[in-house]
Amino acid sequence: MSRTCAIDDCSNQARPGRRICHKHRHRFARHGDPDFTEWTVADEYDVEIVVERAQSVEGLTRLERVMVGRGLSRRGMPAAEVARIVGVDPRTVYRWRAEDRSAA
Ligand SMILES: [Zn+2]
Repeated sequence: MSRTCAIDDCSNQARPGRRICHKHRHRFARHGDPDFTEWTVADEYDVEIVVERAQSVEGLTRLERVMVGRGLSRRGMPAAEVARIVGVDPRTVYRWRAEDRSAA
């Protein structure tokens, strides 16, 4: 039975023989602070993983949520499903899409 990540509020599984999960190890290496959640910061590695797995995760920054929302939208995922994974209201997803269209 493996244990969960030692970071508070993180329910990811720790890597074998380690105390923290992949995401926090990566975040720690990148920023020096595993709880770093500055809104302008996005970890492209995290975003890629979330888009690829299409599973919700804890601890995304606001910018990461937007980026994941865009990535999933580009894959043709319905807004309600994107909203569930990213943890926002579906209206927020529609707003992101509208902003992307007007920016294009
Ligand atoms: Zn963790």
